[in-house]
Amino acid sequence: MRRDKGVSCVTVKAEIHIGMEQLQFRWVVRPQNEIRSPRRMAAPSMDFRNTTSVADSTLLPLIEEAIAPWNVGRIRVRVRYSRGADFSGTCFYRDRRIHVNLGRHLTFPYRLGTNLGRVRSFATHWQRPIYQLVLNAPYQLVYFIFLHELFHLLVETAKRNTRQKEAMCDRFAARALVDGHGVVVTTKEGMLVPRDAWDFQDLERFVAAARIPAAAIPAPRRALQIARARG
Ligand SMILES: [Zn+2]
Repeated sequence: MRRDKGVSCVTVKAEIHIGMEQLQFRWVVRPQNEIRSPRRMAAPSMDFRNTTSVADSTLLPLIEEAIAPWNVGRIRVRVRYSRGADFSGTCFYRDRRIHVNLGRHLTFPYRLGTNLGRVRSFATHWQRPIYQLVLNAPYQLVYFIFLHELFHLLVETAKRNTRQKEAMCDRFAARALVDGHGVVVTTKEGMLVPRDAWDFQDLERFVAAARIPAAAIPAPRRALQIARARG
């Protein structure tokens, strides 16, 4: 079964991504500040390869900080261009491998359709409102996909049921982008969505069994964890 091997995700895409407006702008040249920077050595805590133009020097600190509190071992991370899809992500549980595939054609700001919304029940059906994350740069989409897949890995590491966790994964990832990267959550019409409409689950507690005990984390990482807890 797929859930034993891993999970492959193509997070919900809003209609806007396949609209004519997007197609017309596929040719737009990537901004100069996205030109690839010199390679940086990956931390021993991970085996990292990135073949996109998003800078390693941007991605590595983010990923290092994200995995620091968690007992995920030495993960393997591969960031590359998709073969045409806007993006996708995959988490292979057995060898702790996360793949992030980024569309080369995307332009930013990019409105990412998500599973953040709370499912509502109506007389005849269930419905989840489509909330969008307004991402301002390619690194933010890579970071979002990575965090989404990391949460799948944390669920598995914590020995929780791994099925149907897309909304939790999106919420885990969205928190980091909203808190630290100036990303906003909006409705399809562009109206800002209040935080409590999507950030209402105790995600940390759900995967608490995957957390490294504070005393076991090397000093710099521990300081980071404490700072984050206070912040
Ligand atoms: Zn997923």
